[in-house]
Amino acid sequence: MSNLLHAADRIRIVLVGTQHPGNIGSAARALRTMGLRRLALVAPERFPHPEASALAAGAVDVLEAAIRVDTLAEAVADCRLVLGCTARSRRIALDELPPRDASARAVATAAGGGEVALVFGRERTGLENDELQLCHAAVHIPADPDYSSLNLAAAVQVLAYEVRLRLLSSPADAAPAPMPATPPPAADGDVPASHAELEGFFAQLADTLDAIDFHKGRTPDSAMRKLRRIFLRAALDDRDVRLLRGVLADAQRMARLASGGA
Ligand code: SAH
Repeated sequence: MSNLLHAADRIRIVLVGTQHPGNIGSAARALRTMGLRRLALVAPERFPHPEASALAAGAVDVLEAAIRVDTLAEAVADCRLVLGCTARSRRIALDELPPRDASARAVATAAGGGEVALVFGRERTGLENDELQLCHAAVHIPADPDYSSLNLAAAVQVLAYEVRLRLLSSPADAAPAPMPATPPPAADGDVPASHAELEGFFAQLADTLDAIDFHKGRTPDSAMRKLRRIFLRAALDDRDVRLLRGVLADAQRMARLASGGA
């Protein structure tokens, strides 16, 4: 089981902007029962809080070890796979996975040595669109469409359970399971680029599109959303990102020359 236990240790649950401290405690209990231990809290409204500790029951160790940061980008900077859980499908350019496929991808990435984040939103409003933009894919638990919003900790329990099932069904010490809907890494030993590397690339891509006047007065958001989707789907590794950034750097240089700059 050793590989799989390590895989579990590479999967973190990220709660964004949680409003009720009780939900943080219940979520800690939910993930701890499924053999997960890592919790990251992005700007929780009230934490630490006695209600969180009370509802965590025996899982206060998870709360005590929880990492607290101000933004989702910080919480997932080192991650190779970021999955955002949403109660409803939104019109965002992001692939959507059912929990079973999401957990398969999470365990495969973690077993291959990559850090993974499962991200959950606020009780009232869920994840903002710009937070979902930071995710490789959205995960939707196929609840009754007329009443599709689970309690936050219940949603954590469902995903953590799926991860648990996947870990238990993966042969111990085996090679990482295949990743559905994800191409294999580009070369031996390569792992997908980290979130921070991809965000650096996306920022340079946005600057380059401006420099070559790609948008021609239109708002850049829609094109960038679609481009993000294409590149997130491609499961780029570090070398891919370096190559693409080299192409962009040359495009930026040519644009400067064309505009009479140095
Ligand atoms: N009113 C909010 C619901 C938030 S529920 C909204 O409509 O978006 C709090 C969090 O629990 C969500 O942000 C999501 O991360 C998770 N969640 C709740 N129901 C879910 C579902 N059916 N599928 C996936 N995640 C869900």
